Amino acid sequence: MSVLVLVEHAGGVFKKKSLEAVQYAANIAKATGTTVTAVAVGDADNAAMQALGQYGANKVLHTTDSRLNEFNSRAYTKVMLAAAAKEGAKVIVGLHDTVGKAVTPRLAARLKAGLVAGAVSYPDLSKGFVVKKNVFSGKAFAYVNVTSDVKVITLMPNTYPVVKGEGSATVENLDVTFEDKDFSIKVVEVSKASGSVPLSEAELVVSGGRGMKGPENWYVLEDLAKELGAALACSRPVADSHWRPHNEHVGQTGGTIRPNLYIAVGISGAIQHLAGVNGSKTIVVINKDPEAPFFKAADYGVLGDAMEIVPRLTEAVKKFKGQ
Ligand SMILES: Cc1cc2nc3c(=O)[nH]c(=O)nc-3n(C[C@H](O)[C@H](O)[C@H](O)COP(=O)(O)OP(=O)(O)OC[C@H]3O[C@@H](n4cnc5c(N)ncnc54)[C@H](O)[C@@H]3O)c2cc1C
Repeated sequence: MSVLVLVEHAGGVFKKKSLEAVQYAANIAKATGTTVTAVAVGDADNAAMQALGQYGANKVLHTTDSRLNEFNSRAYTKVMLAAAAKEGAKVIVGLHDTVGKAVTPRLAARLKAGLVAGAVSYPDLSKGFVVKKNVFSGKAFAYVNVTSDVKVITLMPNTYPVVKGEGSATVENLDVTFEDKDFSIKVVEVSKASGSVPLSEAELVVSGGRGMKGPENWYVLEDLAKELGAALACSRPVADSHWRPHNEHVGQTGGTIRPNLYIAVGISGAIQHLAGVNGSKTIVVINKDPEAPFFKAADYGVLGDAMEIVPRLTEAVKKFKGQ
């Protein structure tokens, strides 16, 4: 019996959010007196898999089929089911991201397991297996007691800081026999996210909304982001209008981020937007409407026109850096 965790890599290298999931699984394993088995698929790098031991994995099960380099919820579920059977897993951890949100419900259904989607705490074992999760787009929390034999959890990314320790995981092959129907979903195109700082891992984020009026004005946000070394994000209508790429869209239907600093420019602060950013440590809101709901969630608010305020902020950052 072990705690199973699905890890994701890009070009063989594990993403920070996966290291967080391994660490999360390791802490559950510690509390329940068991070990952690990570499950990696596709062309994962061997040294990187071993290095998952530094975050608490004891073992990595690796299914090498190169077709798994492209995400496929059916095939990934099959791998996880095989791993769960091999390990006799009672707790399975995934991330509350595109991959985890697609795989874990399938897995939970197949295993007749209770599923907590979007966990923001470790299970409280003193009361059963109680996990805190976001509900109503982050407006409230629910405490869910999972009573099924097998328990599946997706962890909200950036809930816990990742701490690197010592250790090396053993890597074992996990052979899975696939059928053609497992790959009936075809990935037609993969668009790589641009920008030097990946949004999901960024400590500083500059984000724009419809108040920016159009893509031609984005240069002011790009200048500020460049000076700060920040990633760019946006509200959903901005991505829907093709002003910015969809990978920059944050919120209930986009990415969930928890940077140290989130600067929201010309964004009203709708509940669906806040759902993706209200875990940010410090929120700065720049808006010309004093009644904008975002001001209620802000640590600092600047009332004014984005095209006037943001360049002044960029100049101030430049000046500060020059000192
Ligand atoms: C099921 C569902 C899911 C959704 N998921 C998401 C999601 O994941 N992410 C998301 O963002 N939204 C999501 N939405 C949409 C959400 O409800 C809002 O409509 C959206 O967030 C509004 O985007 P916005 O703030 O950019 O635009 P607006 O609401 O149009 O706000 C623009 C803001 O800019 C300000 N402004 C205007 N001009 C200036 C200026 N010159 N200088 C400074 N400020 C200015 C205005 O005062 C206003 O506050 C979802 C909606 C639904 C129904």
